[in-house]
Amino acid sequence: MRTTLSLSLAALFLGASARTAEEQNALSDPTAECAWYDYPPVTNVLASYPPIGTPVKGIMPGDSAGQAKFDSFKANIPNIAPRGVDGAFATDALSKYDKTDPDCWWSFSTCAQPKLAGLKPDIFDVPEPRTLGYGFDDGPNCSHNAFYDLLQQNKQKATMFFIGTNVVAEPLQALRAAQDGHEICVHTWSHRAMTAFTNEQIFGELWYTMQIIKVVTGYTPTCWRPPQGDADDRVRFIAQQLGLQNIIWKHDTFDWHVPAGQSTPEEVQKNYDDFIALVGKGEFDHVGAILLAHELDNYTMQTAMDNYAKLVKAFDHVVPVGVAFNKTQPYVETNLTFPNFQQYISGQSGGSSGTPSGSGKPSGSGSPSKSGSAANPSNTTGQQGGISAGVSVKAPAAMALALLGAALVL
Ligand SMILES: [Zn+2]
Repeated sequence: MRTTLSLSLAALFLGASARTAEEQNALSDPTAECAWYDYPPVTNVLASYPPIGTPVKGIMPGDSAGQAKFDSFKANIPNIAPRGVDGAFATDALSKYDKTDPDCWWSFSTCAQPKLAGLKPDIFDVPEPRTLGYGFDDGPNCSHNAFYDLLQQNKQKATMFFIGTNVVAEPLQALRAAQDGHEICVHTWSHRAMTAFTNEQIFGELWYTMQIIKVVTGYTPTCWRPPQGDADDRVRFIAQQLGLQNIIWKHDTFDWHVPAGQSTPEEVQKNYDDFIALVGKGEFDHVGAILLAHELDNYTMQTAMDNYAKLVKAFDHVVPVGVAFNKTQPYVETNLTFPNFQQYISGQSGGSSGTPSGSGKPSGSGSPSKSGSAANPSNTTGQQGGISAGVSVKAPAAMALALLGAALVL
C-alpha cells in the first residue's frame, strides 16, 4: 500500500505564515507544531527538486552536477535488474529470485555481506559491547518537539534517518535535529523499495535527499538506511558511489505496526520489553545492538519516550550509531566534528564534551519571511516487516490536500 501525492507544490505553499526556528522549537501543542509555515530557503529551490511524496523519476533537468556524478560511475553499476517499477515490487519478485541469493538481497535473505567485490558490508550492530546504537526512521515529524526535548534534556543524541519529502515539508524540524547534534542520515526521497527502481531513480532518491538536507542543515550526510531494509548489491553500489554507508538493524520494535493497524500498543511494548530483557541475558556482552524504531507519528514517538529511561538503564551506553564507530566526521563537510565513543560517553555522564563541535554549527540558511506555507504532506510510509510497508498519512495534511484539490491515492 502506498501513498501518492500528485499536486502542485506551489499550491501547498500558499497562504501560511513564516516562523523562526526558535518559534517552531518552542511549540508544545502538536497541532500548532504541524501548522504550515513558509521556509524560503526550501521554497526557493523547490523547482529544481523532484515532486514530493512520489518516486523520483530521474535526474532533474538542468542538474549538471547530479548528471555528472551519475555519469561518472553508471557504466560500472552491476547488471542486476530492477525488481519492480517505481519502487513497487513486482508481485513475483521474491518467488522468481535465484535462491542462491547472488545479489545479496536483504529483503530475500537479510544478507548484509555484499557478494560484489569492493562493496562495504551493511552495518546492523555496533562494535561496543552493551551499547545501543540509538536511531529513528521516517522523520522529521512535524510534532516531534516533546520527543526531541526529552533527548535534549538528557544530552542524548541519536541517528535520524530522514525522508527527503519530509525535510521539504518540515524543514525547521530537520534543522532542529542538526542543531541538537543528532546524526542525520538519508532515508530516500519517497520511501519506496529501492531495488524496484532503475539505476537513475536509485541515484535520484539518494542524491536529492542528500541535497535538500544540505540546503536545510548545511551538512551532507554520509550514511543511509533503505526503506524496508531493501537493498541489493546494485543499490549498495550506487549508494557507495555517493559516499553513503548502509545502516540497517538486527532488532525491531515493530512500532510502525500500530499506525499501520497491524498491531496493538501492548504488543509493541512487549517487543521493547523483550529487547531490553536481552541485555540482561548477555546478548550484547560482546557486540552492541541497533534497534529499529520510528519518528513516524505521535504514538511511535511517545513509545520511544516511554522506553527511553528503560533503555538507558539496561544498556551501559546509548549512543548514535556513528559515535559507536568513532565516526567523528559524520558529514561531507569537515567543519563539524562529532565526539568519538569515549568522548561521547564521558560527556553524557555529566561533562559537556558529548556534543558536536566546530566552526559550522547548523543554522537556518535564511530568515523566514512573507507568505507561503510549508505544507505538511507527511505521507511517511511506515516500515518494513518483509515486503509490505505500512502507511500513515496525517489527517490534517490529507484534509488540506483534499481542499487544495490534490490527488491523494492510498
Ligand atoms: Zn522508513
